[in-house]
This record gives sequence, C-alpha cells and structure tokens, in this order.
Amino acid sequence: MSRPFELDPLFRSITTLSGVGSRNGKLLEHLINGPKVLDLLWHKPVDFIDRRFSPKISEAPDGRIVTMQVTVDKHIPNARKGLPYRVQCSDNTGTITLAFFHANKGWIEKQLPTKTDVIISGRIEYYQGKPQMVHPDAIGTLEERTTIETVEPIYPLTQGITNRTVRKALQNGLGFINKLPEWIEPTYKTRNKWPDWDKAVKMLHNPSDEQALDPNHPVRARLAYDELLSNQLTLALVRHQQRKINGRAFNTHGELREKIINALPFKLTDAQKHALSEIDNDMSKDSRMLRLLQGDVGSGKTVVACLAMTSVIENGAQAAIMAPTEILARQHAKSLKPWLEAAGIRFVILTGREKGKTRELLLQQIRNGTAQFIIGTHAIFQKSVKFNDLGIAVIDEQHRFGVQQRLQLSSKGHGTDVLVMTATPIPRTLTLTAYGDMEVSKIDKKPPGLKPIDTRLIPSSKIENMIEGLKRQITKNARIYWVCPLVEESEKLNLSSVEERYDILKHFFDKKDEKSRIGIIHGRMKPLEKDEVMEKFSNGDLDILVATTVIEVGVNIPEATIMVIEHAEHFGLSQLHQLRGRVGRGADKSYCFLLYATPLGETAKARLSIIRETEDGFLIAEKDLSLRGSGDILGVRQSGMAEFKLADLSAHSDLLTAAYDDTKLIIKRDPELKTSRGQALKTLLYLFERDQAFQNLRSG
Ligand code: ADP
Ligand code: MG
Repeated sequence: MSRPFELDPLFRSITTLSGVGSRNGKLLEHLINGPKVLDLLWHKPVDFIDRRFSPKISEAPDGRIVTMQVTVDKHIPNARKGLPYRVQCSDNTGTITLAFFHANKGWIEKQLPTKTDVIISGRIEYYQGKPQMVHPDAIGTLEERTTIETVEPIYPLTQGITNRTVRKALQNGLGFINKLPEWIEPTYKTRNKWPDWDKAVKMLHNPSDEQALDPNHPVRARLAYDELLSNQLTLALVRHQQRKINGRAFNTHGELREKIINALPFKLTDAQKHALSEIDNDMSKDSRMLRLLQGDVGSGKTVVACLAMTSVIENGAQAAIMAPTEILARQHAKSLKPWLEAAGIRFVILTGREKGKTRELLLQQIRNGTAQFIIGTHAIFQKSVKFNDLGIAVIDEQHRFGVQQRLQLSSKGHGTDVLVMTATPIPRTLTLTAYGDMEVSKIDKKPPGLKPIDTRLIPSSKIENMIEGLKRQITKNARIYWVCPLVEESEKLNLSSVEERYDILKHFFDKKDEKSRIGIIHGRMKPLEKDEVMEKFSNGDLDILVATTVIEVGVNIPEATIMVIEHAEHFGLSQLHQLRGRVGRGADKSYCFLLYATPLGETAKARLSIIRETEDGFLIAEKDLSLRGSGDILGVRQSGMAEFKLADLSAHSDLLTAAYDDTKLIIKRDPELKTSRGQALKTLLYLFERDQAFQNLRSG
C-alpha cells in the first residue's frame, strides 16, 4: 500500500499555506520542527484569548479583553509627537477612547470612518477614570463580528513569526484535513469519549476554555494516543518481523569461552554471570534473541557481550559488535584484543576510516567468513558490507541508534540475534517507547574494588586554586580530562570554546623549554588525529586532555583519575554521570570537579547536588526524569528518532500502557494489517511517517 491520497495535502510544504513565504517559511519550519502542513497541525496552542465577552461600554471592566460594537464619533489627531492619535467612540451607555501611538493616519481613517458602527476587540484600560483601548487587537465591520468575537488560540512563537501568521496558515491548513478511517479500537474510543481524528485536530486549534489545554482533555488525549499507538505498533511490527524470521539455536560448547575466561585479569561478578546466562538461554532457543543489556557505566558489559558472542563463533557463524563512534570502536578493539587472541578468534575492525585496498580486503574477509569477529561503527550497516553468516549483532550504547538502523541491521543476516547494550539506565516507561516489548537483562552491581569518586562543586571564581591543586596532582602522575562547556547553538562555538580553553591551560601548565603535555580532542578532528591524541593520553604522554563531550561514552583509560567539567550547570544529569564515569576505573582514588558559574538556578542546583551525592546511575536517571519531565534521556535527538509531538510521557503514561496492550492484540489477530482496521492502522503509520515498519512485512 502506498500513502493514502487523503494524506497528501498534509504532506505538502508549509510554504503552500497562505501567509507563508520562503523567508518566514524557514523560521516557521524551525519553530514547528518540520516542513510539512502536518507539522503545523501538530503545533499545539499553549493558551487562548477569549474575545467572546461583549459588554456595553459603561460595564466594561478595567483589564478585561472585550469585543464591542461602537459608533465612531470623532478623530483627534495627536497634538505633538509622542502623544497618541485618538478616536472617540460611543454606544448608548458611554464613550471610549481608542489610542494609537506612532499612528498611520490614513490607515486609521480607513479603518474607523466617522459616523459608522464598527466592531473593536482588545483590552480595556482605564485612564484618568475613563475607559480606553490602546491599539485594538482587531477592528472590523459589523459583518465581521463573528470572525472577531471568538476564542483565539495562542501558539509558541519565535522571532519573526507572529501568532497571526500561525493562525492564518493554520486556518488554511485545517481546510486540508480529510476524514480518515478510524484506527482506534471502537469501544476504547467510545469509553474515553474521544472525537474522530479530523475533528480532534480542528478542535485542538479551537480551544474554548481552560480544560481544552489540559493534556487529558479528550481532544489532546486522543491525538497523544494516536502518536503512542503508532510508536508501539512500529516497534511491535519490527519485532514481530524479527521474530518471524526463524532464529537459530546457538549452544555453547564452552571451549572458546573458557579460554577467554582464563585470560581475564578478573573474576566475573554474579551480576555479569546472571546476565550472561539469560543471554545464553535466549540464544540456545531457535527464535531470535532481541535483548537489552542495561548496566551502568563501568558495570562491565563488554566482557559479557564478548562471552555471549563466542557461542556463535563456536557454532561457525560470525559475531559483530557496533559502537556509536570511531573512538569507541577502537576502544572496544583494544580491550577485546587480548581476550580474542587468547581464544584464537580472528577479528577485524571496520569503521569509516578503512578505505581503498584495506577496506576491500576487510570486506572480503567479512564476506567469506575469514573474519569471525567484527568490531566497528555504523559503517557495518552499509550496503557494501556482506556477511558470510552473521549470527549475532551486539549494539553498544544503543540510544544513539534509531529504529531505522535496527531495521537495516536485521536485513544483514538470517535470524541474527540482537543484543543491545546501553549504559543509560532507562526507566520503564521510556524503555517501552524506545524498545517496545524487549527482554531486559540488568547488570545491577559494579565489579568490586572500584573506589568511590570524590565529586566536588567548585564555583568558577576558584578556578585558579583548583589549577594549583591539579599541578600538584600532575607531579604525582595524575591524568586529567578537562571537559569544556557545551554550547548548544553551534558546533563552531563549541570548537572555539575548547580551543580557547586549550590555549589558556597551556599557559598555566606548560613548562618552559619542555614539550607540551596537554592534548585537545573534539568532534571536528579527523579520526586519525583523534586516535593519536587518545593514544598519547592513554600511554601517559599527555597529562591533560582538553575535550568536548566526544569523550562522553565508553572511553576507558583506567589511569585517568581526574575529571574537570566546566560550566557543569549546562549539562544534563545523565550526561554528567556519563562524563564522570570516565574516571574511577582504576586502582587509584578519583576526583570529579564540577565548575559552575554563579548564581545557580534552582534546577541546576538540584542537578549538581544529586551528582555530588550519588553515583547510582538508576537513581540519577529517575531524578533526571522527574526534573525534566520526559526529557532527552534516550538521546532521541542524536538517534534521529522523533521526539513525541503530541504525547507527553509525564501526563500520558497510562495511554502508553493502553497502546502497548492494544498493539499486542493487533499483532496477535492481524499481524499483517489486512483487516479493515489493519488498513486504518497503516494510514496511522503513514501519518506518523512510520510506514517503513510494514513496508518490509512481506519481504522479511
Ligand atoms: P561498561 O559496562 O561501561 O561498558 P566496561 O565493559 O568497559 O564497562 O568495563 C569497565 C572496566 O571494568 C573494564 O576495564 C573491564 O575490563 C573491567 N571489568 C569488567 N568486569 C570486571 C570484573 N568482573 N571485575 C573487575 N573488573 C571488571
Ligand atoms: Mg561500554
């Protein structure tokens, strides 16, 4: 099925709407987070102005918004600059003055001809005991009364886009809406007293009272449910499809695994063993594994994944592990290397960097099965990469990958098992929206012997004292990460902030006539340059590594014991936790210095004290959620997954559960969406641009 034609108008560009041109179109697009008419329809009003109150002049209360019919009596041009141009009007109960500053006389005369009756709307203000209206919001003829005397929705705006522009474009856009087949289960819809989709969208933009703004109002709840249902259905379809393709039973013989375990410099913790046995159990079944492995930073997920991967290799198939960044992929390669070598497993590294002949050779090894273990970045997803027989794919730090990429991945092998690892402890509701019904294993205890990190909050005015302290630590061979403030607006600014800090620190730390022992790393550097710097820092050729958040995830250098984070108040809780997790990995005591600018806002203060008080990732994630609403915990922005436009998880978690339950039934009864409700559900998926979820239903 291709997109139902009823939806076509909604997918047109907003520039086809009245009042939207190419210039303000760009601004509007940015505001509503999308280029389509549909994106505008989903731009919810946040408030409204009620213009339906229509008193006589003598009864109009000070401060109220009113709409009135008045007669224009006379114009009183301003006596001098700075004074308003006034127009006196009346009805049978009294008089009112309309005041215009910096007025265009011609325009006013045309709008308000003397001796005529007009409709005016605006705020009443008493001035020297008399009613007045400064710059009426609307002036119209008697015939225009009905269009003025309404409830006017107020939208979130941005510079260059007025409420009027949004409304005008919307009035046009709402006309594009067609009736759509109902995808919500009828009894559930009736029980909730929800309107039809087309009515709901129209009502969303015509709020008539306070209740209409409530997220649980039937109109908003229905639209939120639509979005959640499409989210759950997408995940369920992907999963159903992945399940349908028969998996294979991989049984552990144990020889390879034993070799690796013998080579480990530590003993597996009970938590690791438990997670591994859950994974083994999945893999030994002939259905496909789709499991999430959650474990806080430093909990030791990598070794668990590696051991799980050996079963596949013992069975003659290939195993791949994917990291979100080049640095991380190299990091994995480095830590896995001794283990894989101990077991005699042939491994290769494939990232965007391998080019030309080298790349050809690697691709060949992957294709003919010479490579048993593949470590890489999303370069592994590329079309040119063909596996001989991919048995398991492990995706590290999954929150950076999106659903689409997972779909691509499943086309790489036949019945490939999938293990997703995330260091971000995700609360249950969020797990559901991001992964649907995925099995979860948790590593809930960290390996023993890790020392707690001493976290200190330092006002930036004390930075020089801290630097003196760091100098002393460096003489004792300390290695320091120095993370520069995050500048949301632009990559360019980030770059300049990190480079500037690098120069200043060189001034503080470099010794005369000695080679600098400060390095810099940021996202704009070439992969090879990044590696080189990481390598130097890792070897101890550098004392300080000045960095942007590129070091946020996964980097493992046990000798680094000090983390400095500048403008810590700008970072989110989870991010601070991830950054801090870069230290405290070795035998020596570690420190985290959070530099902050004063004065601190309430939320920033709350965030920083939570970080100082605990290292428990799950606790931090929960606090984060409550501080931010639903927030960006999943890193949905990085992953390219859309954030919810209509649903708000802090208000709609019951709807999420309902959507989850409903989806289960749908998949059970009509997994290919063939019934008439199934067809309607396809329309729903098209509406939310998730149609890819069923496009490969058959081909899977
Ligand atoms: P993460 O879960 O953050 O990916 P890693 O897998 O990188 O954590 O492990 C962090 C560090 O802990 C690594 O140096 C790893 O070798 C070490 N490690 C893993 N398991 C254990 C264990 N059972 N005992 C001691 N150290 C361990
Ligand atoms: Mg890791």
